[in-house]
Amino acid sequence: MLGRTHTAIALAATAAVIKDPVQLPLSLTIAAASSLLPDIDTPDSMLRHQLNKYTGILTFPALITAGYFLFKYKYFSLPGLILYLIYLVLAFIGPHRGFTHSLAGFSIFIIILFVSDKAIILPAIIGYCTHLAADLLTSSGIPLLYPYNKSFKIPLVRTGSLLDILIGLAFGLMFMAILFQKFI
Ligand SMILES: [Zn+2]
Repeated sequence: MLGRTHTAIALAATAAVIKDPVQLPLSLTIAAASSLLPDIDTPDSMLRHQLNKYTGILTFPALITAGYFLFKYKYFSLPGLILYLIYLVLAFIGPHRGFTHSLAGFSIFIIILFVSDKAIILPAIIGYCTHLAADLLTSSGIPLLYPYNKSFKIPLVRTGSLLDILIGLAFGLMFMAILFQKFI
């Protein structure tokens, strides 16, 4: 699915489960970043595209720098940072919808979270899980058992189609409605 659809779904789900308004800004930021992270293995993904605009070939160094700051400000522990770097390397050298969309990639992501700051665990899991679930509903599916190449899918939506755009729009509206209802 489109990057903005992934982000809209993750934001709506996070706003629905977060109770403390103080946690909301960090939680929404982490959920949005996690909802885009699996697509760093594709050069035309929203996250890579945006980073490329500012950093060119320095996209991966930029992601490494982001990891360093997460470590410096204690969101990542040292083992979390090391695993994050391994995750980036495996994402970079693998094919699109490969490692990052598999159970192996998801497991490394979960371990990174559980050795890091507790405040980021829930929104990060929401962002990543909703991404994998949404891609499961596309015609390309996801290779859950990567490097074994079988694609798992329930093909209901084509990436970039009108339905994809409408789903993004619907979740965007839902996100705003939840914010108004719970936090204003
Ligand atoms: Zn994806």
